[in-house]
Amino acid sequence: MSVLDEKLQNEFDKVLRRNPGEGEFHQAVHEVLDSLGPVVAKHPEYAEAAIISRLCEPERQIIFRVPWVDDSGQVQINRGFRVEFNSALGPYKGGLRFHPTVYLGIVKFLGFEQIFKNALTGLPIGGGKGGSDFDPKGRSNAEVMRFCQSFMTELYRHIGEHTDVPAGDIGVGGREIGYLFGQYKRITNRYESGVLTGKGLTWGGSQVRTEATGYGAVFFVDEILRSRGDSLDGKRVVVSGSGNVAVYAIEKLQQLGAIVVACSDSGGYVVDDAGIDLALLKDVKETRRERISTYAAERDGATYVERGSVWDVPCAIAIPAATQNELHGADAKTLIANGCQVVAEGANMPCTPEAVRAFTEVGVAFAPGKAANAGGVATSALEMQQNASRDSWSFAHTEERLAEIMRNIHDRCLTTADEYGKPGNYLAGANIAGFTQVADGMLALGV
Ligand code: GLU
Repeated sequence: MSVLDEKLQNEFDKVLRRNPGEGEFHQAVHEVLDSLGPVVAKHPEYAEAAIISRLCEPERQIIFRVPWVDDSGQVQINRGFRVEFNSALGPYKGGLRFHPTVYLGIVKFLGFEQIFKNALTGLPIGGGKGGSDFDPKGRSNAEVMRFCQSFMTELYRHIGEHTDVPAGDIGVGGREIGYLFGQYKRITNRYESGVLTGKGLTWGGSQVRTEATGYGAVFFVDEILRSRGDSLDGKRVVVSGSGNVAVYAIEKLQQLGAIVVACSDSGGYVVDDAGIDLALLKDVKETRRERISTYAAERDGATYVERGSVWDVPCAIAIPAATQNELHGADAKTLIANGCQVVAEGANMPCTPEAVRAFTEVGVAFAPGKAANAGGVATSALEMQQNASRDSWSFAHTEERLAEIMRNIHDRCLTTADEYGKPGNYLAGANIAGFTQVADGMLALGV
């Protein structure tokens, strides 16, 4: 990691000391502090109020035991987390991740990112995140249900529509939100729709929420291209992953005329020069819950590459949409050599600091996750709005609101980057715009 200006380096050293062994959290904090040099110089009032130190310390961190019984009758124990990071702008808001790699450092990095992402949406939501080291892979539907019920049996006392509003993330989709909501309703005897987002359409969910993160990332890319007098039409695109974000990014890319030539999962990647067959991909991943290798086996002309890097596939636009630190410095160099012009993070922090530096140095447009993937949480906030007014909007209306929010985030990143002497730098623009909004909120609310 690069060395920061002295005051910021002191703040960063404090974070290192206070949060030992939490590498992803350190990385996320460093990336934001790295953009704040010009902000600290312009706003001495932030230092007086210790805004950075306060922002880097979560308001509340909850860790709990999650006991559940598997199908063979064996009791299993997992660990549950909810980090309520910052509530200056609204109730804590952010997803739950169920994945074996989850530990406090991952939840804190995600929660920290969420603060600025949520601020950028312009909607009244604070930042939080949660999850568990539970591995849903290979678990039966009944096991997933029992796990979700046990998880909520502790979590319910910490959340609420005006307090903390969880949603999905990796390993948590519509099915899990349903089981979590059912347990919340049963324990509290309240049909409190606004306590969770990502709900099903028949019981308080919002149109476009399922598609929102992927669609939003593509709207963001579309805005980048438009600002350069270009468009998505005919562009070769590589999307990593094949989960919720990737699938709906591919759908919107295809609707806007781009050709998506590759996607992946943790086992390998597929190359399909004719363009990914989306119906087959959805069938394999969403309905049958199988590996991407099945897609290649059933699709003429597609090839499967076990392991390897999906970033070896030449493209004009790259959308990493799998997980953190999946695109390394060497991948960035390959993408640049192959003529890639735009990189937009569909996942949270998928590009390593080396990769980000490589893109920035050569002028590849780099859109960080907190801006490019904010469409998911923005549509969650629209779901909360519909729940609060006991209303439900049409698909077309909700999608238009999402597109407008993504346009605003895009423009705000560029304007802020200009204002602080970093023209065209989406990363600096996103970090500074998100940070100053939260910092001003914190100043106004007092210590
Ligand atoms: N997990 C998503 C994210 O990373 C969405 C969170 C939400 O909708 O609250 O932004």
